[in-house]
Formats: sequence, structure tokens, C-alpha cells
Amino acid sequence: MKFVILDVYPDKKHRLVKDTAGGYGTGNDFGNSFFSKILNKYVDQSIGMPAIEVMIISSILKKDNEVHYTRDLHDKKILDCDYIIFPSSIIAHETELNTLSKFENKKIFVTGIFANTMKEKYLKKNTVVVKNESDIFFYNLNKEGKLNVKFLDNLFLNKDLIDNFYSPVNLDDLPYPDWLSYSKKYRLRNDFFSLKEKVAIPILATRGCPYSCFFYCTYPLQQGRKVRARSVKNIIEEIKYWKKALGANKFVFRDPVFSINRKHTIEFCNEVISQKLNITFMVETHLNNLDDEMIPLLKKAGLKLAYVGVESSSHFVLKDMKRFTVEHDKQFQVIKKCEDSGIKVKTMFIIGNPEDTKDTIIASIEYAKYLPSLYSQFSVFTPYPGTPAYNEFKDIITETKLENFNQYNLTFNHKNLSKEDVSNLKSLAYYKYYFNLKKILQILKYSLKSKLYNI
Ligand code: SF4
Repeated sequence: MKFVILDVYPDKKHRLVKDTAGGYGTGNDFGNSFFSKILNKYVDQSIGMPAIEVMIISSILKKDNEVHYTRDLHDKKILDCDYIIFPSSIIAHETELNTLSKFENKKIFVTGIFANTMKEKYLKKNTVVVKNESDIFFYNLNKEGKLNVKFLDNLFLNKDLIDNFYSPVNLDDLPYPDWLSYSKKYRLRNDFFSLKEKVAIPILATRGCPYSCFFYCTYPLQQGRKVRARSVKNIIEEIKYWKKALGANKFVFRDPVFSINRKHTIEFCNEVISQKLNITFMVETHLNNLDDEMIPLLKKAGLKLAYVGVESSSHFVLKDMKRFTVEHDKQFQVIKKCEDSGIKVKTMFIIGNPEDTKDTIIASIEYAKYLPSLYSQFSVFTPYPGTPAYNEFKDIITETKLENFNQYNLTFNHKNLSKEDVSNLKSLAYYKYYFNLKKILQILKYSLKSKLYNI
């Protein structure tokens, strides 16, 4: 059988990635000021990757079939294939629907959690909407010997049959994502934590997140609230594989919260160190999971950059959005310890939260500058369809185009702020955080060091 993975994106002047925001994707639109436009271009050129689950599906299918990944609607292989695998996301929603209408004579498997949330939009006569973690669906299908034309064609007639292929899978049994083919045509980029790398491999060690911020976060929609981990042995084997196959020594962990399982993380770090893997990696984690024991160990294992959620400096704003984090003093200390030890930190703030005012946002910007992190990110509170927050906000949502739910636009009628206020405050946040001599020198110093020593 011939499969084409057709991964479509709208034509934008900022970065679009479908793997982030729990598979809903994000689009880093920093705003319209001159400075924001430069940032948009830089980030667009620095970070790029498809959804990991889609590349795992590619590896599953490839065992006995032909698989071709493309972002080009005019790719000739589309017309020639038996089935299309079609990754969905909110940030490309309208473009995806438009594309689906162009291929009504093709049988299409729509993957990604967003298509489940908006099933009525994606489910058509010629489509099957695969649920939740779609790599698990294809893994089970293959395991049960159902990956054949007869069975797949029947799925398009009896769509309820898909429910039979979601039994839990040992994550160690899934194949590695098909980065080998992908990287021949597209660059796996993440230039933020080193300027010298040729490839940065996205890797998934754990799935699921139990934290309370599922109120607005989409990760638990796709992966659930129970943490499931691959064995350390399996993760190490994958790292060794990419070192050999692609000469990679930089890895981007895409776990919702890396180091959520302390014992597992310690075991992982000790293996990386004892086997002298000589890698560098970046993670997204919770400040609660970084302490005096973990920071030096993670540093020794090769951690270069940690994304940590701070969201807001206001306790009132945080409480309202059901986000629980460590106290300000501790935030400062943990970030300082990381930075002093050589682990760069990117703090993540959200503006336009339901209880935000101009003053609370200005206070968050000042707090971001006060914290000793190298980088910071300011996104916009988004009541995503499918989350509890959406149910609360659905009657005051003003944005009609779902592609604009990219985490960088105000999408609802905020009681204290207009869309323009939020856009201006977002531009101001980036300008104030990055456009000052201290920060420019700090970043230049780090970039030069990375370049000289390839760290
Ligand atoms: S910690 Fe909160 S924001 Fe982060 S993945 Fe978990 S639920 Fe989402």
C-alpha cells in the first residue's frame, strides 16, 4: 500500500508548529511592531518540527508499505497513493478543511487530538478521524494484522470499528519516529540552544500530565492525566540510534513535564553520564521538579535549556486559572541555580488571563525581567475548544477563525482588556524583556560561548 502524510499549514510570516500545545499547535506571532517582526522571522527560521506521533505512524506503516511525507499540496505522490494520513491542528484548521475538500476522492485518516474535538468538521464520507494518540491506533492495527486494503477500506464504511484499536500499549514497543526520511527533505531545527547544530532530534520520554492546569491546557486532552514513561533503557537506545544514524547529539524532549517522575529522571541522567553519551538536551518542566539534587545532575547529563511555566506574577490571576506554582522567592532561587550551573532557563508567561488587567500584565513583564532567566516567552490565554476553560468562555468568544487560536491572540471578549491592548502589551513585553543592553549582552555572550565551544 502507498501512504502519503499530507501535513498542511497556512501561509504565515511566523513560526507554526503542530506538535506543541498538546497537538493543537502554536503559532508564534509576536506582534506587528518592527522588533516583533524581526523576532517572528528569527523564531520561524530557528525552530521547526512536525508532530512526533505522525512520524511514529510513518515508522509503523513503513515496515510493509510505502510512506511519503509532504507539505506540498501539488506533490504528485498524493494522486498516486492509496491512503492519506492527515495531521490536524487548530493553528491550521481552516487550511486543513479547505485541503480536505480538494481530495474528496481519496481515503483519508485524520490524526491529532484537535480533529477529535471538532469531529463534526473533519468527519466526512471519505475520512476516518483517529482518536487521541493516533500512533497507538496504527500500532494496534498493525499488531493485529489489520493493515491491509480489505480491512482499511472496510474502516471507511464501518467507522465505529476504530474503537477496537486503542488498547494500552507499552511505549517501549513503539518504533522511533521516522526522522531519517523527514530530515532528508526538511530540517529538524532548534537553534535556540546552540547555533552550531545541524539537527536537533525531538524525543518523547513520558506522556500525560496530572497537574491542575488542565483547566486551560490541551496536553491532557491528548495524552491523559496519568503519566506513562518509556523505560530508561529504551530512551537511551533511541539516543544512541540517532547519534549513529544522523550524527545527532542534541535532543529536544517533548514531554509535557520532563522530570515529573523523579526516580525515572535520576536513572536517565545517571545512564547518560555513565555511558558517556556526550549529548545536550532541552526540556519543558515545572519549577517544583528542580532542586539542589536535580539541577547538578541534569547539568552533568547535558541539560542546556529548560522551559518553565511562570504564567503570571499575580497570585490572584494564577489562582483563578487554577495554576499552582512555587512561591516567587523559590522561583528566583531555582532559576538562578540553573543559570549559575550553566542550564539556561526560558520562563513562560501568559498574558490576557481572565483576571488580568493592564497593571497585572505590566507587573508580570517587570517580574520576568527581574527573574535571572536568559529567555522569556509571553503568550496569550486561549480558551481552547475541548478544555474546561472553553465551556466557561464559549459564549464570549469573538474570534471566528480557529487558525487564530495560536496562543498569541486574544480570542474572547475580555472584561478588562481589548484585543488591541493585549496585542500592544505582548509587543511591549518582548520589547522590554529583550531590547535592553543587559539582555543583549547576556544573549550575545551565551551565543558566542555556544559557537566557540559547541555547547
Ligand atoms: S503542567 Fe499544566 S500547563 Fe504544563 S502540561 Fe501539565 S497541565 Fe499543561
